[in-house]
Amino acid sequence: MTQFYGKTKICYGVDAMESLEQLAAKKAFIVTDQFMVKTGFVDRVVSHLDRRGVSHLVFSDVESDPSLETVTRGAKLFLENRADLLIALGGGSPIDAAKAIVYFAHKASEDVVKPTLVAIPTTSGTGSEVTDISVVTDKVNEVKIPLSDELLIPDVAILDARFTRTLPPAITGATGMDVLTHAIEAYTSRQANAFTSIYARYAIRYVFSYLLRAYRNGDDMEAREHMLLGSCMAGMAFNNSGLGITHSIAHSLGGMFHIPHGLANAVVLPQVIRFNSFDVGIRFQEIAQMLSLPAATVEEGTSSLIKAVCDLNEAMGIPARISMLEIGQEEYFNNLEVISCNVLNDICTQGNPRKPSKRDIIELLKLAW
Ligand SMILES: [Zn+2]
Repeated sequence: MTQFYGKTKICYGVDAMESLEQLAAKKAFIVTDQFMVKTGFVDRVVSHLDRRGVSHLVFSDVESDPSLETVTRGAKLFLENRADLLIALGGGSPIDAAKAIVYFAHKASEDVVKPTLVAIPTTSGTGSEVTDISVVTDKVNEVKIPLSDELLIPDVAILDARFTRTLPPAITGATGMDVLTHAIEAYTSRQANAFTSIYARYAIRYVFSYLLRAYRNGDDMEAREHMLLGSCMAGMAFNNSGLGITHSIAHSLGGMFHIPHGLANAVVLPQVIRFNSFDVGIRFQEIAQMLSLPAATVEEGTSSLIKAVCDLNEAMGIPARISMLEIGQEEYFNNLEVISCNVLNDICTQGNPRKPSKRDIIELLKLAW
């Protein structure tokens, strides 16, 4: 069976925040972080709630890579207050935390009425505002706990590009390359279908048209808005199609060497395109054709796409090789076996179009160094 599931109501544009005033709610629980409080972004959300007389409580303790402890505390507070509206405001971490709070609150007490879950992303990267995934970190046992459940898909996503305006260039670049990786991996995944392909293609086009503009001029609101839409579209695609080994490698490099997710994806993506081109080169040729790059043959299309990705990285100061990231050479090469095992066990590897062996991954990691 082939299926596509898209549940989230997506509101975007300059007056998108007004959709908060249309929700039938009495009490809101806002999950966010300290930075959102300091920048006044939380106040913006609250002003819309005030207009409709919706009372609110702010839980602003979410750290990056939210811990199980934080999420448990949030879930307890949420249950005590019985809010019927849960608003996640921030980057991937507050949205992941809010989803996990809904999940744990529901587990703890089945009679809890599920709140309306609204996600307001302030970065253009994770697509978390439309996916059923959340990751929390058990800091005591040093393990990541991935959660995946339909319950976690937000009911409403509000895409207001003004929240992304102050993102610094380096973060704009890295998170934007995460969007591109989501879209390319979704387009070439084993579980890709006609519907996921439409979203993935549009997201790829948006990244190539608008990412560099947003990177060079953060106040370019047309570029910011399209990157936010592209991020959301890529999320719609990969939530249904899964991803591939660029993500598996990025997860492993992130866990072991603390390399930021988007940056790791950006550096590894060209090598993975080359690796996968032996099985799905025609997909890369299709992408290259869509971007009006030279693509008369599969080989030419693949090479053109790889060059376009490398050029985009270079234009945004993203290193071309893993050796240029902050990883010691000896540490890296001593851990190639471990990394490749992690990659093979990563859930994203299931979506990769070409089934890799451990040897293949080690070879790829050496080429990317
Ligand atoms: Zn990603």
